[in-house]
Amino acid sequence: MKKSSARAPVKPALSKPKTNLLGLSRAGLEQFFLDQGEQRFRAEQILKWIHQQGVMDFAAMTNLSMALREKLETIAKITLPEVAGEQLSTDGTRKWLLRVDPQNSIEMVFIPENGRGTLCVSSQAGCALNCAFCATAKQGFGRNLSSAEIIGQLWLARQLLAETAEAPKITNMVLMGMGEPLLNFEAVARALELMIDDCAWGLAKRRVTVSTAGLVAGIKQLAERCPVSLAVSLHAPDDALRDQLVPINRSYPIKQLLNACREYVADDRRAKITFEYVMLDGVNDSAPQAKALARLLQGIPSKVNLIPFNPFPGTEFRCSSQANIDRFREILSASGLTTITRRPRGQDIAAACGRLEGDILPRSQRIARLRTAQTRHHPAPGVIA
Ligand code: SAH
Repeated sequence: MKKSSARAPVKPALSKPKTNLLGLSRAGLEQFFLDQGEQRFRAEQILKWIHQQGVMDFAAMTNLSMALREKLETIAKITLPEVAGEQLSTDGTRKWLLRVDPQNSIEMVFIPENGRGTLCVSSQAGCALNCAFCATAKQGFGRNLSSAEIIGQLWLARQLLAETAEAPKITNMVLMGMGEPLLNFEAVARALELMIDDCAWGLAKRRVTVSTAGLVAGIKQLAERCPVSLAVSLHAPDDALRDQLVPINRSYPIKQLLNACREYVADDRRAKITFEYVMLDGVNDSAPQAKALARLLQGIPSKVNLIPFNPFPGTEFRCSSQANIDRFREILSASGLTTITRRPRGQDIAAACGRLEGDILPRSQRIARLRTAQTRHHPAPGVIA
């Protein structure tokens, strides 16, 4: 019998989505190459190209064989968030708006100070925690960022800063932008691993800080996985008040939180927890509250950062008077706690703590207010100091 010559139309094979290598830390890259039948040491080579040399183009990775470079073109990619706006403060602070998808934008801030350069990055688009005094909370929650979108902020910032006249270096990293880092644990942990890996960014653990509203489970996980410096947004010396200001306190009350903090630094004699305390007029800034806070923190290796409240449209809170902030600081200092008052930075461009809003709703007028900056994807030589 003659076979029918009619053939069923060939269905296009569903191609596997390309893996974004930017967000893979050493372990993930090693697994990626092993899965491809390649050798483990390829991971180190790629880490150096991407994170140290700033190279995004596989064709330029000259110590990989031609065949591997061609293969990578078909199965992998290196993609960054898009720069949608940039603002420069009179005090030198810079803020960028980054678009991570058509619905979500995030903000990152660079703060130059006394030879240091601190980059503050976001871990989520928006935030789900609803702290009473925070502008990001008012935006609601958009989504978790991927590890590529978190480390991509550092990659982009180095590139953008290298193009400025001063070309400052990024020496310190803080996860204090939009979002709660410990509610996006896996992506944050991978980005942290890249920040401290000698083949990637090579930052000392002490120069990388995760700031949390106090997720005890996440603090324990971080201690196991990647114990960088920890900052805890405390803001109140008792549960009744903290329940109101930082609602996650209802799940993880102060006693539990401070026990997790004690454990976090138990194995490292030099480590200290930074406690952040936003100064709210008539709410948490009295002398008895300062004394209660000092008692609470006794015995925990710690330093306290008093943050003058940064007001934003629609908030009912006001910043404490300078006299109250000074009195609060003196009471804590007198009890032996290292206490500093954080100097507000980038206020003219709404870059200060708690003012980052991004844009997690479909394009708002906010973007129009920002100068449009071109997205640049070419290599940036040099590594951070
Ligand atoms: N979710 C994390 C990190 C983001 S907030 C956290 O809660 O720590 C970074 C810091 O800015 C936190 O200490 C936060 O409490 C503080 N902050 C929020 N809103 C603020 C405001 N309006 N003025 C001053 N500090 C604020």
